[in-house]
Amino acid sequence: MENLRAADARDFKALLALPPRRLETLIRPSGYFRQKARKLRIFAERARERGRLSRWLSRPLPELREELLGLWGVGPETADSILLYAGGRPAFVVDAYTLRLGRRLGWFAPRSGYAEAQDFFTRALARRPELYGEFHALVVELAKRHCRVRPACAACPLLTGCRHGAACLAGSPAARADRPPRRGTWSGGSRRRTGRRRERRGRRIG
Ligand code: SF4
Repeated sequence: MENLRAADARDFKALLALPPRRLETLIRPSGYFRQKARKLRIFAERARERGRLSRWLSRPLPELREELLGLWGVGPETADSILLYAGGRPAFVVDAYTLRLGRRLGWFAPRSGYAEAQDFFTRALARRPELYGEFHALVVELAKRHCRVRPACAACPLLTGCRHGAACLAGSPAARADRPPRRGTWSGGSRRRTGRRRERRGRRIG
C-alpha cells in the first residue's frame, strides 16, 4: 500500500493508468505479485465500469458476491474480504486459520469446507460486519499464537473444552499429526495426511 500511495495510485483510475509491469513492481513486496497485479487490474476495471465503489458495493449481497466470484482469481475468501472490509457488508471471512481452529475445536466437522465454516459463524454471531471483522481478527491472532500447525496448547486460552488440545497434551500421535478423530477416539488409524498437508489445502480456499 505504501508503494501505491507513493506512486499516487490511490484510486482505480490512477491504478489502471499504471503500466502493468510498474504495478507488479509496486506490489512485489506483498508476494505473488504477478497474480495480485492481474487481480487488482480486473477488480479496478469492474469497479470503474460500475461507477462509484460505494454504490457498487451496496448492491444486494448475494448478487454482489456472485459477481465478485465471477471475476478472475477471486475465490470465496477474497470475495468475502472485499465485501466485509471494503464494503462493510456482513460476510464472514474464512481462511486457513479459521478452518484449522474451528476444526480442532469441533465448531464444524474435520473435513468441513468454506461454506460449512462460514455457515457456522453466520448462525452463531449477530449479523454485524464489525463483529465479523473483530471475531475473525481474534481467530487469526489465536491461531498464530497458539493454534499453529503444531499447536502450543499448554498456554492456549481455549484449552478448556478443546478435545484436540487435551489429546495433544496427553501425547496422542494422531492429535499431534492433526488427524481428525476416528470412531470417537483420538488414537488415530492409518491415515497419513499430515498437518502440513491440511494447512496447504486450507490455504488454497481463497
Ligand atoms: S487448545 Fe490447542 S488445539 Fe485447541 S484451540 Fe488451543 S492451541 Fe488449538
